[in-house]
Amino acid sequence: MVDLHIHTDFSPDGKNSIEEVIMQSKINGVGIIAISDHYDLVAGPYIFNKIADLKKYNETIDNYKREESEIKILKSLEFGIQSFISEELKDDYDFLLYSVHHTKKVFTDLPRDDTDLVWKLYLEEAVEAVKDIDHIGFYTHLDLMKRYLKNNPEVPKKYEHLVVELLKRIVKYDLGLEINTAGWRMPFKEQQPKVWIIEKYFELGGRYISIGSDSHNKKTIGCGYYQAVDLLKKIGINEIFYGEGGNYVRYGI
Ligand SMILES: [Zn+2]
Ligand SMILES: [Zn+2]
Repeated sequence: MVDLHIHTDFSPDGKNSIEEVIMQSKINGVGIIAISDHYDLVAGPYIFNKIADLKKYNETIDNYKREESEIKILKSLEFGIQSFISEELKDDYDFLLYSVHHTKKVFTDLPRDDTDLVWKLYLEEAVEAVKDIDHIGFYTHLDLMKRYLKNNPEVPKKYEHLVVELLKRIVKYDLGLEINTAGWRMPFKEQQPKVWIIEKYFELGGRYISIGSDSHNKKTIGCGYYQAVDLLKKIGINEIFYGEGGNYVRYGI
């Protein structure tokens, strides 16, 4: 079992230490984990989702990678990209998780009941934000705004072309697509993104699927993995990928 999306207390909204995460992963039977704490390039008045000391974060994970022999630990970041801001990452990561958490505004400034507006602004921003990518990784929780909007509405039909545009960018930069299992723990009880989006990614030439729980608490490490595997097999996909040392590595499911 793998879990390629785990937060620790290096994230402002993460609960457990890396040590606790490693111990719990062993208990939960997860053999490959990625530590992927938040590094959002834009921080709004309500959101400060950024590792405070990136150097310490990198060194701490490097130490655990060296010392740990029972499970594989991968060094990642949930890199919160936006179209209007950029930053070059200096350290080496096994892979990155690319997230767009905001529109041109911090999402919590947007009305939760304006489905059309929020989806439009998010997808337009996401299409623009996937640029100048020079490190392998996976685009996470592609239909994110479903979590934020009242009653968790899907992408409106009239904006599905923007999802396709976004997928084209993801494929262009040779990025993978994450199956984020946190949605199964939310009221809408479904993985993110929807199946049609996963299928469209393949249709457009994408190859790399990852699975991550987006755990902010050690209790949920590995949650939803087998559900995601079942779903992928149903649509004819028998392999996922993780990143190690900047290369995609195949993992049979
Ligand atoms: Zn996220
Ligand atoms: Zn996350």
